[in-house]
Amino acid sequence: MVSREQIAEAAALIRSGGVVAFPTETVYGLGANALDPAAVNRIYAIKERPKTSPLIVHVSSINMARDLVTNWPDSAELLANAFWPGPLTLVLPKSHKIPSELTAGLDTVGLRMPAHPVALALIEESGLPIAAPSANRFTQLSPTTAQHVADGLGQAVDMILDGGPTEVGIESTVLSLAGSQPILLRPGMVTREAIEAHLGPILLLENTGDAHASPGLHAKHYSPRTPLYLLDPDQPLPTNGAGIYLHWSSPREGAASQAMPHHPAQYAAILYDTLHQVDLVGCDWIAVEAPPAGSAWAGILDRLKRASIR
Ligand code: AMP
Ligand code: MG
Repeated sequence: MVSREQIAEAAALIRSGGVVAFPTETVYGLGANALDPAAVNRIYAIKERPKTSPLIVHVSSINMARDLVTNWPDSAELLANAFWPGPLTLVLPKSHKIPSELTAGLDTVGLRMPAHPVALALIEESGLPIAAPSANRFTQLSPTTAQHVADGLGQAVDMILDGGPTEVGIESTVLSLAGSQPILLRPGMVTREAIEAHLGPILLLENTGDAHASPGLHAKHYSPRTPLYLLDPDQPLPTNGAGIYLHWSSPREGAASQAMPHHPAQYAAILYDTLHQVDLVGCDWIAVEAPPAGSAWAGILDRLKRASIR
């Protein structure tokens, strides 16, 4: 779907300070040269993202990651070997090469190696680490197809690489290794258990909405335009207008019901596209049955909570 010529063109754009949307296995990213403050600032401008929210840097090798931090602990080596390329972001003390524009003034940087051939080829071909948040405007739904990016950002980006729908479907797990103990900053499809199998017990950061303790983890994030209600099976559906009920166990009277997958990986893969589609249909509300508890579902539950009315 993406040709070598397109990769070469996109890499040239990245090298010259441009902004390119590209597929990763999680969601589509809005990429620019991570070492160029002006290019990084263009990402913030296009996304209308507050400068308090740091960006993730994408690398194509462990060596590239080591070069961007002042300390690469054994825990990072262990996890990178276990989960990279993959949807796990590691937060580490940043080297001087990383501009403070990228980290919202923090002395740490989030790094990951994406498991997508187009993303890896783009990083390799440009020869640069690529800063990339999700390719959507701040607080809106993350894009999982090139069409979502085009609908949301259109002419604002220099190029969109279309690698088809993304496989994982929600943003990466974010783990800080910058302090004395590992802290899970954002749950995702690399689960707490999977990390703990390598590191032993880790700490969880409850989302306080505090921009410093959990930068970028703003309470309202990842939202569809249609009001979304996250409901337990015994909670009533909204009574106004017409809505859609995304159920995990069984359908209900009073709404068009749509079954969601029982497997977390399949659920995550279609979640954002399902919400994008409900937005296009234009209902008065979306009600979503809360998925089961447990770490396999923690990333999905986290995104649904942020998307919901509270
Ligand atoms: P996004 O690129 O939209 O998936 O968001 C990336 C998220 O990673 C940010 O919103 C933060 O929550 C987290 N993050 C990135 N860099 C850091 C950092 N240096 N310290 C803590 N969290 C970070
Ligand atoms: Mg985002």
